[in-house]
Amino acid sequence: MTDNAPVLEQATCFADLHLAPEILAAIDAMGYAQPTPIQSQAIPLMLAGRDLLAQAQTGTGKTAAFALPLLHRLRGFANTSTSPARHPVRALVLAPTRELAIQVHDSIVSYSTQLPLKSTVVYGGAGMKEQTVALRGGVEIVVATPGRLLDHAEGKVVNLSQVQFLVLDEADRMLDMGFLPDLKRILALLPTTRQTVLFSATFSDDILRLSGQFLHDPQRVEVARRNTAAENVEQVAYRVAGADKLDALLRIVKARALTQAIVFTRTKVSADTLGRQLQKRGVSAAIIHGDKMQIERIAALDGFKKGEVQLLVATDIAARGLDIVELPAVFNYELPYHAEDYVHRIGRTGRAGASGLAVSLIGPDEERLLAGVERFINRPLTILDLPDTAPRPQMSTPAPRAPVSTPASVEPVKPAVRDVAVDVAVESVQAISQPDAAPNLAYQRGQKQAVCALFRPLPETTP
Ligand code: AMP
Repeated sequence: MTDNAPVLEQATCFADLHLAPEILAAIDAMGYAQPTPIQSQAIPLMLAGRDLLAQAQTGTGKTAAFALPLLHRLRGFANTSTSPARHPVRALVLAPTRELAIQVHDSIVSYSTQLPLKSTVVYGGAGMKEQTVALRGGVEIVVATPGRLLDHAEGKVVNLSQVQFLVLDEADRMLDMGFLPDLKRILALLPTTRQTVLFSATFSDDILRLSGQFLHDPQRVEVARRNTAAENVEQVAYRVAGADKLDALLRIVKARALTQAIVFTRTKVSADTLGRQLQKRGVSAAIIHGDKMQIERIAALDGFKKGEVQLLVATDIAARGLDIVELPAVFNYELPYHAEDYVHRIGRTGRAGASGLAVSLIGPDEERLLAGVERFINRPLTILDLPDTAPRPQMSTPAPRAPVSTPASVEPVKPAVRDVAVDVAVESVQAISQPDAAPNLAYQRGQKQAVCALFRPLPETTP
């Protein structure tokens, strides 16, 4: 399958990699001056037809590392015919999440502007119709999440029998997300003679097993040390009680003058709660997690990418693959249960050589998770004291109410507790006004009691 002689020494410019002029022109238009280390290593091997087991840190340019040689090797099939038969699927890229699939496809489109190769992206949570039309029209390259691709394959919308190139992107994540059975079913639909490349930010025994099963004599490429996070990311942590995390977050954002950050929570509920609390404080915040509709997720991400949203509150679904140029910081509002996810989260900052900041807020109940992270990345996080800056909301907020004297018998309530009270109140009002959303009367009663209990000691009168 040799197409071009491999360039074994480290290439310092793209021309050294012997990529087609159309591809070099596209790279030039992207403003890439020289290949990143993963690109220098992976591109010659892929051009030489080798299977690849590649470990690269997030943000190292790994998408181009597989997309450029893929396009180079497909360029002989480029044609402008309108007949679907002239555009069989020749390359398949599988990605774990819709966001990553969309992003990879966008990159492929940018890199192939000068080549008449057709591509599309298919993922779950969106209508089948448009995807079906695109697939039926014929495409050389399909980027897909596994489940939705199987839906199309089973509906005979897509034929995978001519696939020559298979890319498994973020393969470790696909395994974590339970895609192994789907992957096996997809692999059974592909020709056995093909080139397969597997990219993974971290290598586990499961990944090595997968590669042993589906890759042929793979060449191993490693640009990051095992399980390390990006070197150019400053990793700091603050010990903060759970109830004080919101204030701590806002203080750090202000003290470090952060224009944007992704704030990671462990659960969808925490993401929703934190997002609402930030919005209530006047911060432009958007929320992205797996229960959000696709259209909401795209809107949140778009707003963030355009700089309209300052803080993107996200669960780990957003930890992989999202590429936001020069994202200055990532917060671990809650540490992840899997230390590996820490590496993925903080890979969102300090991308492609820029410096980044990763801040972890460690609650008293998260010491064990912190120890796990430190063990995993093989270094301690720098523990800092909170900056001494009072958080200031970004947008106009109601003028503070005049304090009234606190009766001796009433304990003042922390602002964070008040936030919880307001949250519960909002949810209660919603539940009562939309009985379908919370049909359980006991639940509503419980919420009302919680609201009463929380509001009772407020040391302020209503204006
Ligand atoms: P990735 O790791 O594929 O998500 O890429 C991370 C970011 O690096 C993306 O914004 C790419 O556009 C960018 N990138 C990829 N290759 C290069 C390169 N050779 N020079 C500069 N930026 C690059």
